[in-house]
Amino acid sequence: MESRDGFSAEELFTKKTGRAYNDFIILPGYIDFLPEEVNLETNLTRNISIKNPLVSSPMDTVTEAGMAIGLALLGGIGIIHYNNTIKQQMDEVRKVKRYENGFITDPIVLAPGNRITDIDRIKDEYGFSGIPITENGKLNSKVVGIVSNRDIDFETDRSKMLSEVMTRDILTAKKGISLVEANNILKKSKKGKLPIVDEKGCLVALMSRSDLQKNREYPLASKDTRKQLLVGAAISTKKDSIERLDALVEAGVNIIVIDSAQGNSIFQTDMIQYIKKNYPELEVIGGNVVTEEQCDVLIRAGVDALRIGMGPGSICTTQMTMSVGRAQATAVYKTAGYAKKFNIPVIADGGISTIGHISKALSLGASTVMMGSMFAGTAEAPGEYFYEKGVRLKKYRGMASQEAMEAGGKKRYFADESNIMVVQGVSGAVVDKGSLFDYVPYLIQGLKHSFQDIGVKSVRLLHEKLYGNDLRFELRSSSAQMEGGVHDMYSYKEPKYI
Ligand code: IMP
Repeated sequence: MESRDGFSAEELFTKKTGRAYNDFIILPGYIDFLPEEVNLETNLTRNISIKNPLVSSPMDTVTEAGMAIGLALLGGIGIIHYNNTIKQQMDEVRKVKRYENGFITDPIVLAPGNRITDIDRIKDEYGFSGIPITENGKLNSKVVGIVSNRDIDFETDRSKMLSEVMTRDILTAKKGISLVEANNILKKSKKGKLPIVDEKGCLVALMSRSDLQKNREYPLASKDTRKQLLVGAAISTKKDSIERLDALVEAGVNIIVIDSAQGNSIFQTDMIQYIKKNYPELEVIGGNVVTEEQCDVLIRAGVDALRIGMGPGSICTTQMTMSVGRAQATAVYKTAGYAKKFNIPVIADGGISTIGHISKALSLGASTVMMGSMFAGTAEAPGEYFYEKGVRLKKYRGMASQEAMEAGGKKRYFADESNIMVVQGVSGAVVDKGSLFDYVPYLIQGLKHSFQDIGVKSVRLLHEKLYGNDLRFELRSSSAQMEGGVHDMYSYKEPKYI
């Protein structure tokens, strides 16, 4: 029997009321496969697909190189924020593009003329020793030695030059060596560091014994045709963004996100057309938009994907202050359905706070989800942890919060010309989530279980079921929502991740 119980998404969203993710539930389907069989591969843009549907927000407390590298290795992608100088943003993009799993591509290097005190300082600051010495003390210069603890620990004269103490007979490996081969050399040689050199003997990278355990393979990593990790970067629609854009392209960026709270503007269409004319290879994500009409304008201007959301973000006060926006589930469903006709994927951006919300966003037609608060507490997000009332936290702030705008983030909100800054976000803190490398696999496994419950094996099949009206939903009354949460407990321990 073909089940007609529940309602199609079309029926769910016909009423005049906007819906949030918590307002509805997905009805279960039939299970004849294991979670491991679920394929989450999806299109981020028209021409780029990734293995896991996770994208990190271009926010200064969320995405710099550490986050972008981690997410790309795990099959998602990070979008580097632009609340910084052009040079800083370029450097972050470069770090991702140059990253080679297991290889340190920007090691600290010294010259023979440096002194032992320089090694002491590095040890104090970074906690490691084993420094390669090159002719000019920089990367891409000939390796002439290495200084490790054993060379200097009994040396009382710390002003001695490194040329007097360094080990000159060093083991190196050639550029292009695989991770497994390099690991084997390190294991056999019992050395602490393995300099990787090019054909002229110049240093291009370093491998460290202490990282050996951590060097795993990442079969789902998001990579370009040159096998470098994929990375996106945000720019605004202001005229000076052209300079930023040129620099980001030079640094090797794959995707540009035009970051605007209300993307349906002449500034944005001009920028999309400029990019498409000057850099036809670059994928452009436009937004943010929430209505079909807004999508239409940006699609006609040439975007390769759309970013959906106006007001649902955890740090966002836009809907309160502007009274403009849309409930996120409705926004995702409406825009995804419209953009699909043009083969343009949509990114559900903001308001995701559980694995279930990711699943719901995809069930409404989104191809990927963009998250800020979910990632801001991980070790790979920028900033240091701190404690408040015994809880380990990390700072998280809206890009239109007073604090972020003062630091240069008001580009997103057409606010530069005025002396009065209208704030559209808050700053605060989120709880420590540990490393991305533990957290993302958990999110992905949870998502696979959710797909199993729905009875679909892939994002493509989920969307087929959605548009065939075979994916069934139901609205939830407020008491149904309470019933669906934890209740009637005297006390309980919150799970680490939800
Ligand atoms: P979250 O995942 O719910 O924390 O939302 C993150 C999203 O909120 C981002 O990707 C942006 O689209 C949006 N956002 C970032 N900063 C602000 C702000 O200051 N005000 C409103 N929305 C913001």
